[in-house]
Amino acid sequence: MKSIYLYFQLLITVFILNACDSETKKSVSPTEVFADSVFDNHSYSNINKIRTKHLHIDLDVNFENKTVYGIARHEMINNGTDTAIFDIKALDIQKITLGKKGQEKETDFIIGQWDKDSILGQPLMVKIDPKTTLINIYYKTTEKTEAIDWLSPELTSGKKHPFMYTQGEAILTRSWIPLQDSPANRITYSASVTVPEGLLPVMSAENPIKTDKKGIYEFKMEQPIPSYLIAIAVGNLTYKKLGENCGIYSEPELIGQCSSEFIDLPKMINAAENLYGKYQWGQYDLLMLPYSFPFGGMENPRLTFVNPTVLAGDRSLVSLIAHELAHSWSGNLVTNRSWDDFWLNEGFTVYFENRIMESLYGKEISDILAQVELQELHNEIQYISESDHPEDTKLKLKLSGRNPDDGMTSIAYTKGAFFLKTLEKEIGREKFDKFLRSYFKTYAFKTVNTELFVDYLKVNLLEPNDSDFNAEEWIYKEGLPKNCYTIHSTRIDNVQQLAKRFENGENIFEEVKWLKINGRKKRKKQIIRLDRSKYITQEWQFFIRELPEKIDVKLLKRLDANLNFKDWGNSEIIFEWYLLGIKSGYVELRPSIEKFLLKIGRRKYIAPIYQELSKSPENLKWAREVFEKGKNNYHSISRNTVQEMLYKKK
Ligand SMILES: [Zn+2]
Repeated sequence: MKSIYLYFQLLITVFILNACDSETKKSVSPTEVFADSVFDNHSYSNINKIRTKHLHIDLDVNFENKTVYGIARHEMINNGTDTAIFDIKALDIQKITLGKKGQEKETDFIIGQWDKDSILGQPLMVKIDPKTTLINIYYKTTEKTEAIDWLSPELTSGKKHPFMYTQGEAILTRSWIPLQDSPANRITYSASVTVPEGLLPVMSAENPIKTDKKGIYEFKMEQPIPSYLIAIAVGNLTYKKLGENCGIYSEPELIGQCSSEFIDLPKMINAAENLYGKYQWGQYDLLMLPYSFPFGGMENPRLTFVNPTVLAGDRSLVSLIAHELAHSWSGNLVTNRSWDDFWLNEGFTVYFENRIMESLYGKEISDILAQVELQELHNEIQYISESDHPEDTKLKLKLSGRNPDDGMTSIAYTKGAFFLKTLEKEIGREKFDKFLRSYFKTYAFKTVNTELFVDYLKVNLLEPNDSDFNAEEWIYKEGLPKNCYTIHSTRIDNVQQLAKRFENGENIFEEVKWLKINGRKKRKKQIIRLDRSKYITQEWQFFIRELPEKIDVKLLKRLDANLNFKDWGNSEIIFEWYLLGIKSGYVELRPSIEKFLLKIGRRKYIAPIYQELSKSPENLKWAREVFEKGKNNYHSISRNTVQEMLYKKK
């Protein structure tokens, strides 16, 4: 790994020297674009010298050989450099030309090949002249392309047509498009996409709602976005409108279930706009993906990608949609400048999500949701503090030389959100909301780093309110500051009591009460059965988490007989239940755990299950067998995480 950085440093030095050279020779234009000195540890691109303004991609999606054939046409602003550097990872670059379509001239390029296992991929260095602004890269994806998941028909709901989708965040867009893959640069894009007849492509852009006989589709995204938000999916898709400017794409088999689950989507958009200003992207649609999707949702602009595990049947997991919608402000509109500032995307989004949930369903519910997350945060802080990187409990990270995915923990999400909650409590909601509205307005379609945010916070919120709030401690120090906002929910207290009573052997499922009838002597026995629907999903999560880690299997069987968690269709509950089962040695759960692991690819669920299984040699052996059966059903993001867990060298 060292050699990469040594070489990279040399490369950078060459570019800095070039920069000085060209700046002394002529006046730099356009200065504004290059004014902010940007250095992204996770991109080889020289965006300080030349940067893409608009990208047009011609794509041919070929399911037979699982390959995308593409031409990436970059319209660039050149600050007088003779080399343009792009990021690529496992792409087959065929040729590169300069100039307009029809008048293109081929040019030379070099691909850095020193470390094929590099997290970053390789730099693609293209020879240009100081006036070049149009670069066209002809390429195809390979079987090592990590962003794309190619699914055979059996892995879809309809089981008749294949499906493909991409996941770009954090640095995987470079594995399906050669580009400057840094969130520090925002670009507009357009695309011409050819797909097999009968299938519909959709992108993070203006989308078609019906298939076209020729199988050729045009897309455009006119607002500038960071590269990790370029996304495509192709499948047998149908569309249903859910409101004025929103709707859902899914396979026809799921469209009924989807439209019922997400019926509150127009209300959510309304609530979000009332909080922090107008939705800036025109249309807001959802796309229901197959089960292999590694995340719960991905906030691709205009088209949030959603994991079907959210379809609980009772709308109990819709806070995920509130989260992805909130990203239309935090993340997509105001974007983290580097992956070290990831908390600016996620912390703000979790805070915003909770406010949307409060607007729609009331404070009692939003408090329960936040408390579940806070409990997870405490666990994560403890885990990270004992790991090789205890400094990862800071909000501002230093991920140089590491995979940016390492920063995707509860710290960015929940510690970030509780920082804002605590700040809101200190300053008062009205002033805090006004501050957030102005933050989103000031930095709309721009990128922000932590230092810039801290300055903005001081000038616009802390100083005007004479506050000595410890923002620096929250951001630059490990752990959770003492002034962290606390939540108290009586409903959670009650459900924890219920768990205690169960653990102590009480029959909580049927309570006997004696009612007096006609005077003192006659009494009637009444049996009150536990009504599970009186508790929301997150209360059941607390119930399961409250039970001891190694609980008597007899008690677990009693729970199964009365509540049967594994058949609820609610992935959050099922997942917690399996974890408890594994910890307690409830081996009878194995067949249903196996079914779950073979069907679902969402990393949040499968990684902790595999992790727990890897703790005993016997479970590890079984986990490896299941993984070998299921690994091809997972997206590379989940597959790589689990692979490392199950096969890491001791
Ligand atoms: Zn998010």
